[in-house]
Amino acid sequence: MKLLTRMARSFVAGETAEEALKQVHKLRDKGIMVTLDILGESVTDRAQADKAVRDYLDLLDTLKKNKSDSHISLKLTQMGLDIDDEYCYRNMVKIAARAAAARRFVRIDMEGSALTQRTLDIFTRLRKKYDNVGIVVQAYLHRTEKDVADILKAKGTIRLCKGAYKEPAEVAIKKMKDIRESFIKLAKTLFAAKSYAAIATHDSKLIDWTKRYVEENNIPREAFEFQMLYGLRNKTQQKLAADGWRVRAYVPFGTHWIPYFSRRLRERKENVFVVMKNMFR
Ligand SMILES: Cc1cc2nc3c(=O)[nH]c(=O)nc-3n(C[C@H](O)[C@H](O)[C@H](O)COP(=O)(O)OP(=O)(O)OC[C@H]3O[C@@H](n4cnc5c(N)ncnc54)[C@H](O)[C@@H]3O)c2cc1C
Repeated sequence: MKLLTRMARSFVAGETAEEALKQVHKLRDKGIMVTLDILGESVTDRAQADKAVRDYLDLLDTLKKNKSDSHISLKLTQMGLDIDDEYCYRNMVKIAARAAAARRFVRIDMEGSALTQRTLDIFTRLRKKYDNVGIVVQAYLHRTEKDVADILKAKGTIRLCKGAYKEPAEVAIKKMKDIRESFIKLAKTLFAAKSYAAIATHDSKLIDWTKRYVEENNIPREAFEFQMLYGLRNKTQQKLAADGWRVRAYVPFGTHWIPYFSRRLRERKENVFVVMKNMFR
């Protein structure tokens, strides 16, 4: 188990908030902004969901005390979506309200397609009361174009990513070329709507396209940010920040790292080598 924990460190910033905050300071020194994620998902026990809420409230208090401008990211199944929608919503109200008081932003990650509609429903309800809450959409889902239109109507802000879950062809685009095309189409919609977008990808083709597109269309650099995951493409993150682009790293920490770690290994085989290289360093 110890060996596995060491391997997870390639993509996970530590087990405690204190360890994660050390990494946050290092990233901030390089001009990279942060969104912090306390790892956890698929919670079916109220005591566990209540604890996740308390952990996030404590994290928000710590960020406020440390005058850290970091955002937070979380998953609704960590907040009780698999238990009861109303209970999950009430938990989210507690977090959104505490974050609003601390002037911090809360991003709701998007999970598997079976949860997309309920996640969007809770987000839309929250957004009516709190403007410091944003959502994620996945370019691989056939439904996403319509979802983006609805989110923009509700004045929601969006993190655009490809999508990390195993989905059937009936709900998701399968070919990388087509997923990239969908990503670009959706990004254009976000830029045209002048909605502050988070372009979340490590894909050079999409990063280069974004840089070119915003320059050709006179879209200011303040109108969006690149987002990447902690431990992936560190040099690219630093180079983008040094070149004056807004960059935010998604920094996960905590003990429930197995599903997150598995998704990182599954989505890109080279990530296995990254882990092995870090082990022997
Ligand atoms: C900040 C952030 C938040 C996310 N939140 C969610 C979420 O809420 N829900 C969700 O479903 N998914 C989320 N994801 C994951 C996302 O959906 C993808 O699964 C993941 O980012 C992999 O897709 P990609 O576009 O980054 O690159 P990939 O499709 O993995 O890779 C495409 C190409 O990019 C290049 N590349 C990729 N990684 C590297 C690397 N490390 N080094 C060198 N070249 C590389 C390679 O050329 C590769 O062939 C998030 C991703 C990010 C960055």
